[in-house]
Amino acid sequence: MALIVHKYGGTSMGSTERIKNVAARVAKWHDAGHQVVVVPSAMSGETNRLIGLAKEIMGQPDPRELDMICATGEQVSVGLLAMALLAIGKDAVSYAGWQVAIKTDSSFTKARIQSIDDKKVRADLDAGKVVIITGFQGVDEDGNISTLGRGGSDTSAVAIAAALKADECLIYTDVDGVYTTDPRVVSEARRLKTVTFEEMLEMASLGSKVLQSRSVEFAGNYRVPTRVLSSLTDPLLPLQEEANSGTLISFEEDKNMEQAVISGIAFNRDEAKITILGVPDKPGVAFHILGPVAEANIEVDMIIQNQSVDGKTDFTFTVSRGEYQKAMGVLDGVKADIGAASVMGDAKVSKVSVVGVGMRSHVGVASRMFRTLSEEGINILMISTSEIKISVLIDEKYMELAVRALHKAFDLEKE
Ligand code: ADP
Ligand code: ASP
Ligand code: MG
Repeated sequence: MALIVHKYGGTSMGSTERIKNVAARVAKWHDAGHQVVVVPSAMSGETNRLIGLAKEIMGQPDPRELDMICATGEQVSVGLLAMALLAIGKDAVSYAGWQVAIKTDSSFTKARIQSIDDKKVRADLDAGKVVIITGFQGVDEDGNISTLGRGGSDTSAVAIAAALKADECLIYTDVDGVYTTDPRVVSEARRLKTVTFEEMLEMASLGSKVLQSRSVEFAGNYRVPTRVLSSLTDPLLPLQEEANSGTLISFEEDKNMEQAVISGIAFNRDEAKITILGVPDKPGVAFHILGPVAEANIEVDMIIQNQSVDGKTDFTFTVSRGEYQKAMGVLDGVKADIGAASVMGDAKVSKVSVVGVGMRSHVGVASRMFRTLSEEGINILMISTSEIKISVLIDEKYMELAVRALHKAFDLEKE
């Protein structure tokens, strides 16, 4: 007997028919003698619908109230799934995040999980029940409902698996695993049987939304065996076959395997670039610009500072597009304080990244990447690198072209 956590995304929970399929799949695992905890997302489109309603009332929704609204999507899902299980004779019980409790900090709309109480869940599992817990939501220390950011149900599932020391966390979704890049953008993308934790973390944080990056962090920190697989197969597929399908996140590099130089390409459409022109170049410049941005709880990603000319420099950084207006507002306030000439922004940029642990032992990845982009006539606006990734910022209209060209240039369609 093993303890398994299943996570089902929005498409997998998209209709009552699909929810019945999820119930049949969960029942199959339970019938095989396993303890099962299920973490579903809201039905597809529901979170967007709720955010839309909020925006009709308040252009920039109040974060606490927005979480109050958005958390309801998952609450409907858990109730429906519990009923679907009860209807086929399985004992099941659903809980909202605050009932477990899944404690988070108070950063509404992007809260972080701090602790999970496993008592109630364990007691139910020991009593033979399937336990269903809302994804995406938690509760802060004052009892306010919080949410974990878009795609946050992945993080709920892996964190719950970590807290319960589950044997495996299975992330069921609308693709049958992690691919070399988004198969919806490159039809030749190839499914990876395994992906190292480090690569998965880079891909997720660079925009591959198949997993929320914090879920990968949890998987790594707590060594949770995590697999991404399809929820759209026949729910009665033999269990062994299902258990070995999809993509496993591995924690060791397979030394026997010839390591590919690049494992995948990630992209993020939702980027924005901000430049502060004519800043006096003296100690503390970066701090005086980015300090207030951080205080406003805005995450900064790529940063460059130009060579100074006549004691003045230009300073450029990127933020996610959703925070662009807020960041511009903050900088308008600090522009005069730091003596800058002007602030310029561009919210139509995207980031494309090549990722692979093989980069450590191979040279020439950057030159191949830049040559490919230049052959396509794509201008690079910013570059950032780490040991296992190279990212470029480009005009958003070239993003898909860049991803396709790089996928080909690095032979990713080949086994
Ligand atoms: P869920 O609702 O199940 O959480 P998501 O839409 O959040 O599903 O994530 C699955 C989607 O991630 C896929 O449909 C696919 O378009 C996208 N995706 C992006 N990058 C990748 C990748 N490298 N491999 C597989 N899917 C990817
Ligand atoms: N329902 C939430 C969202 O749409 C969480 C999730 O799907 O993981 O972002
Ligand atoms: Mg998702």
